[in-house]
Amino acid sequence: MKSKNPTCPICTQSAQEDFRPFCSKRCADIDLNRWLTGQYAIPIEEEPNDDSFQAPSENPHESKLN
Ligand SMILES: [Zn+2]
Repeated sequence: MKSKNPTCPICTQSAQEDFRPFCSKRCADIDLNRWLTGQYAIPIEEEPNDDSFQAPSENPHESKLN
């Protein structure tokens, strides 16, 4: 019975000896990347950037409907 049972801060799985405190190289890279990008405290959200998209005020195909 171990007194310490570290878990991966990325995926909360059991940490591996070689990658502590992470469970794998992948999670270690994810953590590192979060630090490098300054988004450590921000959960990953992949959302399309709608700000760059604006519907044209005049639809060239609209005349077909008339
Ligand atoms: Zn992990």
